[in-house]
Amino acid sequence: MSEQTYALAIHGGAGVILRERLSEDMEAEYRAKLLDAVEAGEAVLKAGGTSIDATIAAVRVMEDSELFNAGKGAVFTHEGRNEMDAAVMDGKTMDAGAVAGVTRIRNPIEAAKRVMTHTGHVLLMGEGAEEFAEEQGIALVDPSYFHTQKRWDQLQKAIAMGAETSLDHSDNKFGTVGAVALDSHGNLAAATSTGGMTNKRWRRIGDTPVIGAGTYAQNATAAISTTGHGEYMMRYTVARDVCALMEFKGLDLQAAAREVIHERFGKAGGDGGLIAVDAHGNIALELNTPGMYRGSVKAGGAIKIEIFR
Ligand code: ASP
Repeated sequence: MSEQTYALAIHGGAGVILRERLSEDMEAEYRAKLLDAVEAGEAVLKAGGTSIDATIAAVRVMEDSELFNAGKGAVFTHEGRNEMDAAVMDGKTMDAGAVAGVTRIRNPIEAAKRVMTHTGHVLLMGEGAEEFAEEQGIALVDPSYFHTQKRWDQLQKAIAMGAETSLDHSDNKFGTVGAVALDSHGNLAAATSTGGMTNKRWRRIGDTPVIGAGTYAQNATAAISTTGHGEYMMRYTVARDVCALMEFKGLDLQAAAREVIHERFGKAGGDGGLIAVDAHGNIALELNTPGMYRGSVKAGGAIKIEIFR
């Protein structure tokens, strides 16, 4: 593989994202921020950095933006809290790290990486995860940092509609963010971060921090990050299934991604999508919803940003 070979894809959530409901200004804002995220990740890859660092750089940009349901801009629980989940996986070592239900970590993806690199564990939750993050010198913030009016209004609307937790996610938009990358050393990585679903209760945790469901990376096959209805992602182990179809049945990346999203997850009733990259730098962006905020770039190519299906 040449030194210049790398590839990166990102998503900022899937769902009922319709051209007629997205104003020109909002569309421009989303496109600009997705571009920032791809550029942040690509800068790491161009400089010869690791796929782990590239995916984290891209995810951080989206965590810091109110546009997406991760970090600042995370959705509210039924009780009016912002509880976030994040995970990262290294395809070379198959090490993984994740945090779930955290309320004070400014960039949950940073804490997930530290769980991977500085503990013998994969998943830490709630206050324990925050205590660990603090020990690691990761920035903590007051929970009010995550409060945004738009998300608060979405919660009030969901409560007024008396909607079920699983059905009322911000007009059926899943705003989770994620990134997958192949670096110039031939290594794959995946990272995903989310506020979960609007109006969730009982400390519900979705697929994002569950390795094999929302996040997965394996050098021999692919790196995957998903967005969509987490309960289906978990029950159908969506991220791992893409890799399993490649590993055991010899499907190529695109065929495996299509099979999992449309024939398994989709037919079971799940709404959402995934981004994937394989060890050759092929990229697959697959969705069964009207839209998914997404972007990608390959070494020597132009950055592509797309929103609608
Ligand atoms: N997958 C996330 C969850 O179920 C939601 C999303 O994609 O926005 O927690």
